[in-house]
Amino acid sequence: MSNDVLVVVEGRDGRLKKSAIEVATAGRALADATKGRVVALVLGHGVTNTADLGRHGVDAILTLDGAAFARYASEPALDAVLAAQAKVAARVVLFSASVAGRETSPALAAKIGAPIVADAIAVAVEGDAIVAKKPKLAGKVTATVVVRAATVVVSLRPNVVVPKEAPRTPTTETLAVTTRAPRILLKDVVAPTAKEIELTEADVIVSGGRGMQDARNWSLVLDLADALGAAHGASRAVVDSGWRPHKEQVGQTGKTVSPKLYVACAISGAIQHLAGMSSSKVIVAINRDADAPIFAAADYGIVGDALAILPIFAQEARAFLKK
Ligand code: FAD
Repeated sequence: MSNDVLVVVEGRDGRLKKSAIEVATAGRALADATKGRVVALVLGHGVTNTADLGRHGVDAILTLDGAAFARYASEPALDAVLAAQAKVAARVVLFSASVAGRETSPALAAKIGAPIVADAIAVAVEGDAIVAKKPKLAGKVTATVVVRAATVVVSLRPNVVVPKEAPRTPTTETLAVTTRAPRILLKDVVAPTAKEIELTEADVIVSGGRGMQDARNWSLVLDLADALGAAHGASRAVVDSGWRPHKEQVGQTGKTVSPKLYVACAISGAIQHLAGMSSSKVIVAINRDADAPIFAAADYGIVGDALAILPIFAQEARAFLKK
């Protein structure tokens, strides 16, 4: 095994995803401790801004060629990661815990017989061990996981690493990969509209719950999100009621998010909802029940009627942000 760190970063529509820079930053910190290099495998095809990786501490870039990598598909992605690890023999293989990362990282770990820490919120090298922190029991506790193995696979929750510049001039090489044909074929991609912000990458999220009373009141959630430049989410009760699509659901059976600010409007704070958002840096809760469990997780709470508070909140936010 080498002392190198292999970071698997994702491209979409010709650009690196935001998480790519987070994973590169985390990889740089690990490689500084192992005294190794950071090698980035760019999962994608025709990604143009790979120079951003060099700016964030990557020493070598492996790119992929061929239409098989234009869109994420399980088998080609795994074949590419296996080929990259065969070449680099990395001490740590770091992924983003994105949809693709959550699928490819355990598959890699199984194939190479390495331990995996999934959905970590921090990772470091301590002596001969890789030490990671990860939420457990639906976010109620944070476990410190100490792993001693020749190679360790880690997936990092998006938004938990603050990108840091550490300029390098990376070498670039096209990795030769023989891929199997994907067994699952992607037929269609429904892209978010230009105004929509991807929940898992958002810095600010405004979410609404069943206490918004009616789908017609959702304009209040959307308006506050617009005022704050935020993405918008929903509880499962809202999604199950058909008020909002499942792609907006936050929680155990929805998306896991870690924004800088999470505004929970008329959401009770059930453990399954907390599982998806409790690692947010600042949580603001608006609920008319002062005993609602969401207040135990919140940094700031407003006890009152969300239907009355949201328009004032949006107005004040616009005035403050001069929007
Ligand atoms: P409610 O529990 O009905 O709460 C509504 C809240 O709004 C209450 O606290 C009430 O006081 C408040 N309220 C009412 N009117 C107003 C008003 N006018 N102004 C202010 N506050 C008001 N849930 C998720 O969210 N995400 C998941 O991924 C998820 N996965 C699950 C998985 C499993 C296996 C199970 C069993 C459950 C899961 N749930 C999930 C469901 C979860 O247990 C809760 O039922 C759900 O989160 C409740 O949604 P809610 O808070 O919007 O609704």
